Amino acid sequence: MTSVNPLPSADTIRLFERYVIPNYVRYPVNLVRGEGSYVWDSEGQRYLDLFPGWGCNLLGHCPAPVVRAVQQQVATLIHVPNTWHIEQQGRWAQMLCERSFDAQAFFCNSGTEANEAAIKLARLHTPPERYKIITFTGGFHGRTLGSTAATAQPKYHEGLGPLMAGFVYVPFGDLDAVRERIDNETAAIMVEPIQGEGGVRIPPDGFLAGLRELADEHDLVLIFDEVQSGCGRTGHWFAYQHFGVEPDVMTLAKSLCGGIAGGAMLARRDIAPSLRPGMHAATFGGNPIAARAGIAALEMIESEHLLDNVARISEVFRQRLETLHSQCELIREVRVLGLMIGIELTVEGAPAVQACMQRHLLINCTQGNVLRLLPAMNLTEQQAEQGCEILSQVLGEMTSS
Ligand SMILES: *Cc1c(COP(=O)(O)O)cnc(C)c1O
Repeated sequence: MTSVNPLPSADTIRLFERYVIPNYVRYPVNLVRGEGSYVWDSEGQRYLDLFPGWGCNLLGHCPAPVVRAVQQQVATLIHVPNTWHIEQQGRWAQMLCERSFDAQAFFCNSGTEANEAAIKLARLHTPPERYKIITFTGGFHGRTLGSTAATAQPKYHEGLGPLMAGFVYVPFGDLDAVRERIDNETAAIMVEPIQGEGGVRIPPDGFLAGLRELADEHDLVLIFDEVQSGCGRTGHWFAYQHFGVEPDVMTLAKSLCGGIAGGAMLARRDIAPSLRPGMHAATFGGNPIAARAGIAALEMIESEHLLDNVARISEVFRQRLETLHSQCELIREVRVLGLMIGIELTVEGAPAVQACMQRHLLINCTQGNVLRLLPAMNLTEQQAEQGCEILSQVLGEMTSS
């Protein structure tokens, strides 16, 4: 329909103005097609997308193996409830556990749902008097009310109170503060191994290992939110594998199904059964389409050696951006782990995002002044170079103006 004769952007925008709740700030562009790291708008303009799908399109737009798997599955069995067994969900769970830790999986549809499941599991697994969960400033865990309360950023709480009780906020990276705040009501610690929305913040050395020790010492459930950092994004299957630390519970979504909606919580096998029958559910969770897409995504990463490509392309970005850092006074710091890339500026980042878009490069800005790139794992070296070149032109012009 739209691909044959797309509505002009202006007409689509008018539909939104009248009929769609304005809870997002949207660019005045109507996207109609995507392939790899490119997207096209309804005027036929092509953009290089270094932030494809807000982190969801880790395999690029419309990755062929995922498209094929979904096409087959949608014509065979779209949905059955979780009162039945489906082979696809079982195999998907097996593949995720084999690539992470000795776990079992619960499936849902998004990151915030995966975190809600983790919050419930932590409370169910520990004695009733233990309900508090320690989370970290600058963290982001989602938009449902439990995850919103877990997110230690006041700007996301305004007007929503009273929030769910029991979250204890501690500065990211501060082990002593964590130790001080643990008491006999604490059930869990929940942390992003690398903060994404918080500005691509990599924890100080020893931080995650220290959390593991504290969790062991006090019998707490250690939850890693890998909704953004997981599934190959950093060059390992999961970001925690860079730090030699294992969680008890891990949450996944965004890129989990190669661009199809899907989420998962993995929990250590001795903890998982605490999420007992009747205590939690997701109607669409682990449905055949998401499962087939999830399996296809994992298989594609392996057959196309994309974890190795992440390391290679990450190095291209690191070198180019560090050179740029040494030349450009607007850059305060460059932070790179695999294909999670943050460029902290000394000024607001929004004008840079706009200027990049005018040059047909799509990037993101978070926390006001951190330019964020979450490129696809199959980005080419040439595309990485091209993106960095546009970025350096844009920052160069901002410096001289
Ligand atoms: C995006 C994100 C979430 C929320 O995921 P949704 O699918 O939007 O609910 C949770 N945690 C982290 C770390 C995220 O980046």
